[in-house]
Amino acid sequence: MTGLVYKSTGSWYTVRTQLGDTYQCRIKGKFRIKGIKSTNPIAVGDIVDFELEKVNDVESGIIHNIHDRKNYIVRKSVNLSKQTHIIAANLDQVFLMITINNPPTLTSFIDRFLVTAEAYSIKTVLLFNKIDTYDEESLLEVKYLAHVYRKIGYECIGVSAKTGKNIDKVKALMKDKVSMFSGHSGVGKSTLVNAIQPDLNLKTKEISTLHMQGQHTTTFAEMYDLDANAKIIDTPGIKGFGVVDMDKEEVGDYFPEIFALKQDCKFNNCLHIQEPKCAVKKALDKEEIAFSRYRSYLQILQGDDDNYRTDNWEV
Ligand code: GDP
Ligand code: ZN
Repeated sequence: MTGLVYKSTGSWYTVRTQLGDTYQCRIKGKFRIKGIKSTNPIAVGDIVDFELEKVNDVESGIIHNIHDRKNYIVRKSVNLSKQTHIIAANLDQVFLMITINNPPTLTSFIDRFLVTAEAYSIKTVLLFNKIDTYDEESLLEVKYLAHVYRKIGYECIGVSAKTGKNIDKVKALMKDKVSMFSGHSGVGKSTLVNAIQPDLNLKTKEISTLHMQGQHTTTFAEMYDLDANAKIIDTPGIKGFGVVDMDKEEVGDYFPEIFALKQDCKFNNCLHIQEPKCAVKKALDKEEIAFSRYRSYLQILQGDDDNYRTDNWEV
């Protein structure tokens, strides 16, 4: 049998078949996925093959195969072992929720997020939330940012989780897809999901409260079914994508506007900093590339600045 992993508690996986039957499954013996060293071999969003087993009249599944992943996101644990934990697999898209105020979302954060999503091959849609609260100046900023990000290929939608503005557009994008919502705490993720499907109770809130009480909680992602065959992966307590380890030469490949110009630079290993005849610097001078994007590029290139690591930000 084949099914989709909806939930994992570490040793048990909730797997649902296409017919809608749900089974509790586990792995027998050693199980390693080639290429990835992670603390968990199977994650929410994985497609697995399993056999049913009956012990004392209780039926459960034994997973014996994982289908190839289209993508996956990881978190590196903050303790010394720096082990990798796979948060979720096979995502179709991430909605990055952005607010201009309450809380402010910095472009350095947006760009770091987008680079990571590009590296993971995950499509990102930018949602500018709380547009019902903005004054003219803030609305202009939304317009400007939407212009910057649309120009380089990202879909941008101004929404209000509170008034319901453009929620239908978000719903339409979610149809038949597996989605995840990210963004700083307080941008309106829970409010938006609630506007999309009122009866769905995500755990985001409870878990963060538990964290505040200093309790030790291990949190796991979980997938939920919404109407229109939309699926959502909720990642309570998880602060963000792990940063992908990349070479300096690679960083520009995850900025679509830099990648597009790369072959026009004189040197094929151009880092677009001070090299002569650099097409990226030329485009920057002509304001064809947004300065904020270029600044983010340099910050990521300099690396090791923990302030810019998305996994240290609340996402
Ligand atoms: P989360 O931490 O990202 O899940 O954010 P919440 O959904 O808890 O929202 C944080 C606060 O912002 C709550 O008080 C919401 O009522 C408020 N909020 C969320 N979306 C909107 C919006 O579109 N407009 C307004 N005015 N308030 C919003
Ligand atoms: Zn260059």
